This record gives sequence, C-alpha cells and structure tokens, in this order.
Amino acid sequence: MQVSVDRDRCCSSGMCVTNVPEVFEQDDQDALVKLRQTSIRPDQFDDLRLAAELCPGGAITVTEDGPAQA
Ligand code: SF4
Repeated sequence: MQVSVDRDRCCSSGMCVTNVPEVFEQDDQDALVKLRQTSIRPDQFDDLRLAAELCPGGAITVTEDGPAQA
C-alpha cells in the first residue's frame, strides 16, 4: 500500500495526524498535511484506509498494491 496527500485539498483539520501520527504530520508553517512515510506497513493498512475515508477534504489517497508477480 502507498499513501499520498493533496495539500491543495487539505483543510488542516488535523484528523489524520490525530489518528495516524506515525504517518501524518502538520507543517509548522501552514498547518497543511505532510507525510512522514509513504510506504505503509501491513499493520497500518486499516488505519490508513480509515484516515482516507474520514479526511474532510478528500486529500488522502491510498493505493493498494497489486498481486505479486511470479
Ligand atoms: S484529515 Fe485531511 S484535511 Fe485534515 S489534516 Fe489530514 S489531510 Fe488535511
């Protein structure tokens, strides 16, 4: 799973930072979201899906990895 954020859509609610602080932080200058990491561990998948669902700006995109190639 990969995660990305669209800072143009972020309204600085801080919800993602509260829920998944190891992945998201807010910029000291403008309070917009920043990523601490983009490659997500399996134990973080559910939290990231929920963060994307709850983001009021629709600023978080999670991309599921495809099946492994043989
Ligand atoms: S939850 Fe969405 S709108 Fe709120 S800080 Fe995070 S990315 Fe920005």
